[in-house]
Amino acid sequence: MEWDIQKRSNQCSKCGKEFCDGQEYVTVLLDEEVVQRMDNCLECAPYVDGNIYCSWRGNIKFRPPPPEPVPGDLSERLLRRYISDKDSSKCNVCFILSAMLERKKLLIQKKKFKDTEKNVIYLIYEHIRTGEIFTIEDPNLSLDCIESVQVEVKEILDKETNSKECISNKEQTPI
Ligand SMILES: [Zn+2]
Repeated sequence: MEWDIQKRSNQCSKCGKEFCDGQEYVTVLLDEEVVQRMDNCLECAPYVDGNIYCSWRGNIKFRPPPPEPVPGDLSERLLRRYISDKDSSKCNVCFILSAMLERKKLLIQKKKFKDTEKNVIYLIYEHIRTGEIFTIEDPNLSLDCIESVQVEVKEILDKETNSKECISNKEQTPI
């Protein structure tokens, strides 16, 4: 199991029926070669077979698509970038970023579980708007470490904000 973002399906993976707004459904994470997300209607959920990591219930909420194609929150953009890069040096940073996004109520922690083979704890977050699942490794930081990573994250965020301001200033400068 690795860091990952997996989208919610629009239909039950077993019977293929489309989900409707407000419907209850069950998300299951299966331990296959890669961790496989399955979304099922309540009727089919008991019949999902395979090696189940964890599961939870949710409600389908259709929301209008976000106004911008890129998520507006800088910490969210960074988290998405690091996860898609699979940059293992950013493990601690991703952990802090996801905690920040949880505090901003953009992510909800759904599960926490241990991969006993690798002896690694994973946190499963769901994105409040898109229903995507973010799999984050828990680096098991000590309090001291958490503080220094928080400083690192703040520096990265400041740097990103400043570099963006620089670009927009340049664009505005008449030649
Ligand atoms: Zn079904």
